[in-house]
Amino acid sequence: MGGSFAGLLAARVLADHAEEVVVVDPDGADGSGQGAPHRRQLHALLSMGHAQLDRWLPGITEELVAGGAQVGRGPQVQYYVDGALKACLPDNTLLGATRPFLEEQVRRRVLALPQVTVVTAQVRDLIFDGARVRGVRVLHRDSARPGDLADLSGDLVVDAMGRSSRLGTWLAGHGWDSPPMERMKVDLGYATATFDRGDELPGTVVAHATPGPANGYEQRLSEPGALVAVEGNRWSVVLVGYGDYRPGRDPETFLRRMRRCVAPLREVADRCRWDGDIETFHFPESRRRDFTRLGRFPGGLVAVGDAVASVNPVYGQGLTLATLAASSLSAHLRSGASPQAPAWDYFRRLGVVVDAAWKVSAVADLAQPHVTGPYPPGYRLLRWVGDKVVEASVIDRAVNEEFMAVVNMRKHPRALTSPRLLLRTARVLTGIH
Ligand SMILES: Cc1cc2nc3c(=O)[nH]c(=O)nc-3n(C[C@H](O)[C@H](O)[C@H](O)COP(=O)(O)OP(=O)(O)OC[C@H]3O[C@@H](n4cnc5c(N)ncnc54)[C@H](O)[C@@H]3O)c2cc1C
Repeated sequence: MGGSFAGLLAARVLADHAEEVVVVDPDGADGSGQGAPHRRQLHALLSMGHAQLDRWLPGITEELVAGGAQVGRGPQVQYYVDGALKACLPDNTLLGATRPFLEEQVRRRVLALPQVTVVTAQVRDLIFDGARVRGVRVLHRDSARPGDLADLSGDLVVDAMGRSSRLGTWLAGHGWDSPPMERMKVDLGYATATFDRGDELPGTVVAHATPGPANGYEQRLSEPGALVAVEGNRWSVVLVGYGDYRPGRDPETFLRRMRRCVAPLREVADRCRWDGDIETFHFPESRRRDFTRLGRFPGGLVAVGDAVASVNPVYGQGLTLATLAASSLSAHLRSGASPQAPAWDYFRRLGVVVDAAWKVSAVADLAQPHVTGPYPPGYRLLRWVGDKVVEASVIDRAVNEEFMAVVNMRKHPRALTSPRLLLRTARVLTGIH
């Protein structure tokens, strides 16, 4: 159910285990993205997500690069905090591509698998056989039979319908509990614009600026924004802002804000031509559905991607979470678990990753004065330690490497409280190293 990024990767994994994988999406195989308008916003793929993508679709990076995507390496990927350029990470890489282009390549590869087919339809309900889901009821949207209702049966149904998934409502309608939902109101505004790219920034593929502890995380004092070199010789530029500081569609105001950002964004504002309109998006809250807290759950059903957790996008974790859900699903099925049994082991496995991502984004979000909870356990200590590590990561490569390993989801956030890192941080900040 759902043929966007998470659904496609789940289909890729299931193709190793199933004779037939049917992807159901109202957009069908064209991926026009009408069901997910956020796809037009700038998307960065964290290094963990990139590694997982290469694992499931070997050679995809080369194909993306052949199509014009850029891979930023070492000093070409620049992170700024409070306007200061952070210590360079020589081994760091980051893929520069628009989300539609990335997804198009993933879709092309997955739909080329002989086991995978697409149905242009909207799922309307689950079909049960006792305590297990045995299929879905769909409403056809294709031109051959628009408006027809039909039943599709299968051993495993995957919810990849994104953050507005109606799975909980459908479960309740069949006498099951819906997974408890945790929410964090962030009231975030996004605006993405595209510019022609020439030779104005030869050493830059990515520049990413966030406010930090020196400015009390105050966005008006340290303008947040990012630019990424993408396919078609273009710069994709995003501005973000919370509450009434939300960026809008007016080009003059957009440029004015870019000129208050770090040097690479100022350069593009001054030297590059617009290519298209400004796209805006409002993200009211992060959400996660905790399936592990349910007492009972039907067999033959799992959820992946934003249908499980949709976290504040400024930390760029969503696509990576979708790749990790696919990998968790693969591990679950390879363990010999029956697809028709309740997938507790899968949900527990994925829960560890979702917890980690949620913690990283929640602790950072709670630094914003307008975000008022819920506070995770140990928040004050995590906040204090986090601030010190961010401060030290600006000037020290070793601290920045560890910090970015957590940001890139290659390490669990507990790595930020390891005695070795804390000692190094203390030494950096007191000047005795
Ligand atoms: C503004 C913004 C910026 C972001 N930036 C980043 C970033 O830089 N990096 C990053 O990693 N992540 C980012 N994300 C998060 C990322 O977009 C999501 O994590 C990702 O889209 C999740 O993919 P998904 O397949 O789970 O859901 P979606 O992409 O939302 O797709 C859901 C799919 O389900 C289909 N669907 C819905 N209902 C039905 C139904 N009843 N039947 C059949 N199909 C249905 C829809 O048509 C759609 O195709 C950002 C998100 C936002 C909002």
